[in-house]
Amino acid sequence: MTQVFTGVKTLLLDLDDTLWENNLYFLLSIESLCRVGRRYGMTDLAVNNLLDTLENRHIPYMGFGYASFEVSYLMTLKMILARAGAGADHPGHQLNARRMMHYLRTHPIDWLPGVLETLPGLREKYRLIIVTKGQPVDQLGKLDRSGGWHYFHGVEVVPRKSIACYEKVLSKYRLDAASTVMVGNSPHSDINQPKLAGLRTIYIPHPQTWHREMEPIRPDAPPTIEIPHFGMLPRVVRP
Ligand SMILES: [Mg+2]
Repeated sequence: MTQVFTGVKTLLLDLDDTLWENNLYFLLSIESLCRVGRRYGMTDLAVNNLLDTLENRHIPYMGFGYASFEVSYLMTLKMILARAGAGADHPGHQLNARRMMHYLRTHPIDWLPGVLETLPGLREKYRLIIVTKGQPVDQLGKLDRSGGWHYFHGVEVVPRKSIACYEKVLSKYRLDAASTVMVGNSPHSDINQPKLAGLRTIYIPHPQTWHREMEPIRPDAPPTIEIPHFGMLPRVVRP
């Protein structure tokens, strides 16, 4: 029998890769960078490592989001071209990279299967509060583009989803941890951190989850239910 969470009043919902596609677009732009790397004799692994190193440098002071990715991305390109030597640094590469970065910020929002069919019914029964990590300008911009503001009772954009962040959200909305459930695709941010803040969690794996978010799900209480897609959510929660 499927496990069910009862006594639920509020659902905290992750956005990226839980309600809509997100990391896919980053992976597409990284693939484009890898193509340039291959052309000048660099392996995909080397390109990814270089990008990762630069992101590690930028995230602590620029935060998670497009800005730190874009700076790291353009610097990686510059370094690939510098290693390749004379003749490699033609304007086409820069232009293409800037186009990729523009697309990353403006692409249409692809809601994941079942999400738009499920949100209205959930909204009738529960308070729906978005808890999303990143920069407000990025995350609220996506929400604008999605046309989905009306589904949610609240939206919280946080720099990182720490235990303290979940405690702040509980306190701001006067929520009781026992009747609040966090739903998301990232084992670290959406499952293990809220668990440590005393919340039950629902894990919806997404194949393109950002590698920095992957870690084993803590086996200890409060419990986690795993479901294959968002459309299953109403079957595993009850007021
Ligand atoms: Mg996510």
